[in-house]
Amino acid sequence: MSIRVEALTKVYGDQKAVDGISFTAGPGVLGFLGPNGAGKSTTMKILTCFIPQTSGTASVCGFDVVSQSLDVRRHIGYLPESNPLYLDMYVKESMAFIAGIHKMHEPEKRIAEVIEQTGLGPEQHKKIGQLSKGYRQRVGLAQAILHNPDVLILDEPTSGLDPNQLIGIRQLITDLGKTKTIILSTHIMQEVEVVCDKVIIINKGKIVADDTLKGLLGKNNKSTLEGIFISLTN
Ligand code: ADP
Repeated sequence: MSIRVEALTKVYGDQKAVDGISFTAGPGVLGFLGPNGAGKSTTMKILTCFIPQTSGTASVCGFDVVSQSLDVRRHIGYLPESNPLYLDMYVKESMAFIAGIHKMHEPEKRIAEVIEQTGLGPEQHKKIGQLSKGYRQRVGLAQAILHNPDVLILDEPTSGLDPNQLIGIRQLITDLGKTKTIILSTHIMQEVEVVCDKVIIINKGKIVADDTLKGLLGKNNKSTLEGIFISLTN
């Protein structure tokens, strides 16, 4: 399994944001669902070595997020919810900048490959600030996959996109999920039904469902994922 999480807990002050969760994930797209404040982003930040957990363990491709964080960073790509981008940089320039952070040697070929893969070709000579939100998300994804990580963590990558942009990004995520382990947080249940193989629902820091999409829909006496989500988190 590419991701192993065991009894993971994160306490902020006197608040338990993540409360002893355990799960594993392998290649494919895992939908990571839960109401606002459930602990999704906190879990994602621990997996990507941005913050340390309070207790428990997490590993990515066999590397511990605390003691082997450099190895974890090499194997993981992260698109944070806010997707911070340098708006004054040109698309290609921003990719070269990220390649530099990863100390990639002669990255031009890989940059061209990723620009092609993420459909950024027609926009590659523009400044990021001149791009639509959909294309900015493509830049975020392109930056996240540039070093060809085995694991991708995507925090609400489709929020605020129009229906046409949604289709493009979802297709991209589906394609990436054929070879990579992807954790996708989203509030759009229809998106989960289209893109995800597996689903974890987290509520108040605890996992309340961990199943395949088919299994979850079959097990619960509700016809929609939305109904299951509401009954488990309300
Ligand atoms: P989600 O991503 O599911 O919306 P978060 O992981 O962002 O949830 O937050 C989980 C809980 O932890 C929330 O109650 C939130 O207010 C709290 N929290 C998140 N980050 C911090 C922080 N840096 N300091 C204090 N509390 C935080």
